[in-house]
Amino acid sequence: MTKKAPVELPADPDDAPLSGELVARFAAIVGERNAITAPHDMAPYLAEPRGLFDGKAAVVLRPGSVDEVAAIMRLANETRTPIVPQGGNTGLVGGQSPRSPGHIALSVSRLDKVRDIDPVGRTITVDAGVILQNVQDAAEEAGLLFPLSLGSEGSCEIGGNLASNAGGTGVLAYGNARELCLGIEAVLASGEVYHGLRRLKKDNRGYDIRNLLVGSEGTLGIITGAVMKLYPRPAGRQVAYAGVASPEQALELLRVAERHASGSLTGFEFIPRLGLDFVLKHIEGTRDPMGEPHAWYVLVEISSSRSEEDASQTMEALLSEGFEAGIVEDAAIAKSIAEADAFWHMREEMSWAQKPEGGSIKHDVAVPVALVPAFLKKADAAVLAAIPDARICAFGHLGDGNVHYNISQPVGADTDAFLSHWREINGLVHAVVAEMGGTFSAEHGIGLLKRDELARTKPAAEMDLMRGIKHLFDPNNILNPGKLVQF
Ligand SMILES: Cc1cc2nc3c(=O)[nH]c(=O)nc-3n(C[C@H](O)[C@H](O)[C@H](O)COP(=O)(O)OP(=O)(O)OC[C@H]3O[C@@H](n4cnc5c(N)ncnc54)[C@H](O)[C@@H]3O)c2cc1C
Repeated sequence: MTKKAPVELPADPDDAPLSGELVARFAAIVGERNAITAPHDMAPYLAEPRGLFDGKAAVVLRPGSVDEVAAIMRLANETRTPIVPQGGNTGLVGGQSPRSPGHIALSVSRLDKVRDIDPVGRTITVDAGVILQNVQDAAEEAGLLFPLSLGSEGSCEIGGNLASNAGGTGVLAYGNARELCLGIEAVLASGEVYHGLRRLKKDNRGYDIRNLLVGSEGTLGIITGAVMKLYPRPAGRQVAYAGVASPEQALELLRVAERHASGSLTGFEFIPRLGLDFVLKHIEGTRDPMGEPHAWYVLVEISSSRSEEDASQTMEALLSEGFEAGIVEDAAIAKSIAEADAFWHMREEMSWAQKPEGGSIKHDVAVPVALVPAFLKKADAAVLAAIPDARICAFGHLGDGNVHYNISQPVGADTDAFLSHWREINGLVHAVVAEMGGTFSAEHGIGLLKRDELARTKPAAEMDLMRGIKHLFDPNNILNPGKLVQF
């Protein structure tokens, strides 16, 4: 059920509902079965993971081919009908949520075929609606690795991953969705198809349309297919938790790890004790990786192209140096694949484990890696000055400088009263981020939630360029209007 958004969102557009006649014209393109209007059947497309956005739409269309997507867009452009593209509906900033009975939600989930795997060039060509986990599985069946990995990988789709330029835990070694993408096919606002499914690693023929579509959050085109890079599967993997005293020590350990492992360092996540406590309390089947508690934990993953033994040796060498230098207090190395997966599971469940603790004010920020400890110190001081008993659970991708700076309500506090501080706390935290040359949206995007903050804080010249690009791609403002950039 949709709950009241804890933050003030831009008002819903008051577009008139679409006429029955127009809905019927759209429905005729995909067939009645794939034009959903019954409230019960529409509900999963209108709700979203955190229950913050109250979705409304005239109809949910589920095209089964690129031609159908193109026909929808031609009609939408002719009739000036707003279209909200949707993938797995796991986005956290409301970009995929339609907001008006005058809008159409367009789900690409039926475009779900793996089109081709090229084992020599190491690429996979997929429809946009293929679920991320299925891309990973298809790569594995071909003896290769698709390294994009997110907590939502069982339901998010590759088109959504590209539209939001998803990050996740593999960015440190392999880059985000943008860096993994070689080519894109997309239907533009006019209904014209952009045929960019190239497998080229080099292509310097002018402006890069693919890279404009990546991260465009459904505002420039509907992604229908993509060519993604694959990698050799590591021959060995080793995962460990290290207990450290502070974020400074975690950063020191990162430097040691990079020296020992370089390109084989495939994970470096940091977690506070409070986060681990939440996981141990609320996530079934988890157990403390170490006997004694530590203030902070680092999850390290080493992947070796040579062997298991090589991965183990590298892990042992870096942890030994960490011990000798007084950085690591204790460590637990996973003894099996199952234990390695269990270690990762604890990290992946961190966000969900906060839910039973009541309201949580969330941030998805990044600062230069070297400044993460300083950021935490300053942000903690600002937050605790405003809400002294707030429980700060800052965790994330230390190797990327990306902190999920989440703040749980004080024990026993009134949830609504706590959440009413959302914007105030955002302001305090984002001010520290800005001072350090960081970003208030490291991987989740802008959508509706952060649209106005983007407009307020991004330099005017950059906003003008973004509006100009939007106008060029979508002069009638029918693609996800009101999201990311207003014009
Ligand atoms: C438990 C959990 C963990 C998460 N972890 C991470 C994480 O580690 N890193 C991270 O980056 N994100 C994370 N996310 C956020 C989310 O999963 C990602 O943003 C994901 O890439 C969205 O994919 P989706 O298919 O669900 O897209 P949707 O949510 O459906 O859409 C997201 C945006 O993309 C647009 N869009 C979707 N499909 C298309 C298309 N085919 N063409 C054009 N535009 C399209 C939508 O309009 C919307 O603006 C997490 C979310 C959850 C719920």
